Amino acid sequence: MNSYKEFVLVVEDDSQIRNFICYSLKQEGFGYFTAGTAQGALGILVSEQIDLMLLDLGLPDFDGMEVIKKVREWSEMPIIVISARDQDKDKAAALDIGADDYLTKPFSTTELMARIRVAIRHLYKQRGGNTQAVLSVGGLQIDLSKHLVYLDESELHLTPMEYNLLVLFFKNIGKVLTTGYIIKEIWGVGYGTDTQALRALMAGLRRKIEKNPAKPRYIITEIGVGYRLKDE
Ligand code: CA
Repeated sequence: MNSYKEFVLVVEDDSQIRNFICYSLKQEGFGYFTAGTAQGALGILVSEQIDLMLLDLGLPDFDGMEVIKKVREWSEMPIIVISARDQDKDKAAALDIGADDYLTKPFSTTELMARIRVAIRHLYKQRGGNTQAVLSVGGLQIDLSKHLVYLDESELHLTPMEYNLLVLFFKNIGKVLTTGYIIKEIWGVGYGTDTQALRALMAGLRRKIEKNPAKPRYIITEIGVGYRLKDE
């Protein structure tokens, strides 16, 4: 495909976890830098060309959440949070201030590498302008120029709201979208945080795109956080 090697910045104060992540990155052909503190991370970010950041939240100098906020002032690079905090509100807060994904410790390197690959693919789509009119995930296909949706090659009839919701997911394939973010994007600011309407809309969409809406294949529920269109 291309010979460009992606560089990952691993921000983690636990040297054992850091080493095992770096080992996996090396196996997968990524380049990497490491930092054990938030200050160290920011120093590397301004001096090196980094494509993606893996970020622990509990750092000795200041909180990882502050790093996300700072980085988002000037960069859209994918940020995957790796943290021992497993509270749903922590996940949602990290995603809402600009993290792209979240993994709770302990996690498998297989899972971590899969998430990194999704984020990198995203990055290339963004850099390429993401102007593709026809996007697909498995048997689900959307034609953005014609406003048509297909499931296993048969056309689906979605309501305008369902269509807008699906477009939002297709623009963020593989990424967790928080409930708050989706509500803001679909209904606009000021709609509040009423999740009931979103649940109803999601149920309607799932009845159309999922063979078994109780066991969704495409749009997965991230309990307490939001939803993700699975990257197949
Ligand atoms: Ca830590």
